[in-house]
Amino acid sequence: MRVVWAVVAFLGAGVLGLFIVLPRTRFLRPRRVLACELCQRRHRRLLAAMVVLACLSVVGFGLRVSQKARELPACVADVSIAEGRRVIDPQVPPRGSVRSTVRSVLTAPVSGLALAFAEVRGRGLCSVGDPPITLAFVPQSAEHPGSMVGEVFLSSPTPRIDAVRAARLARHESRHVDQWAVCSVLGGIGLLPVAYLVDSTVYPGSENHFEQSAGLDAGGYSPPPDPPVGPRLWVVAMWTGVVLLIGRRRVRWAVRTLVRRRSTHVPGRCAVHTPGWT
Ligand SMILES: [Zn+2]
Ligand SMILES: [Zn+2]
Repeated sequence: MRVVWAVVAFLGAGVLGLFIVLPRTRFLRPRRVLACELCQRRHRRLLAAMVVLACLSVVGFGLRVSQKARELPACVADVSIAEGRRVIDPQVPPRGSVRSTVRSVLTAPVSGLALAFAEVRGRGLCSVGDPPITLAFVPQSAEHPGSMVGEVFLSSPTPRIDAVRAARLARHESRHVDQWAVCSVLGGIGLLPVAYLVDSTVYPGSENHFEQSAGLDAGGYSPPPDPPVGPRLWVVAMWTGVVLLIGRRRVRWAVRTLVRRRSTHVPGRCAVHTPGWT
């Protein structure tokens, strides 16, 4: 049973999922915690969330595989990064290379979900380049050329950029695919969006670390301002508040243990879920 949960946890939230779920299995958990009904309820909710995430990943993977099986029309030349992909780019791994294949497999769940989104909201798919990437056309704001979700470039239907700029953008987006692959292993399909959101609120615009590592200039970002805006202290305070709110019971337990110099718990509850500050 533990193996099943390990697989579900890894599919749902990568290595992070394993770290969260495995110590909670009956084998490793102390008896007092197993007796705590709040811990048990929390555990069940966590496992349910893992199952949902794992199902999304599997569905996404399936959609990606079925899409790869059917031949997509080639993108017409005047479309976005299509021309850029025709320019030979040493930084983009060639088709069939180990890196390209591993990257495709790791990003398949999120690529599949992006395709599903494009299927509902989009205006068609086309394939371009070597290795091929999928362009999905969805309504986007005019000034933003598009976003990479896994290996699928969600693009506005009428992007107007020249071939040189497109080549640089292709390289930039390829770096984002690498980021998706690494984050998918570490924390599943949800890690990159969350990490990107947190980073872009603390370090706005050109100071975003994901965009910096993908190449600001190639991605069409202006150089970071001098002096830098980030880290924005009020945002750091806000995220710290969120973390403290989530971990408030552990904070209470730590404070109480420090005051009393021993851990206490009432019957039917673990130390963390025992009410009272002193
Ligand atoms: Zn508990
Ligand atoms: Zn970017």
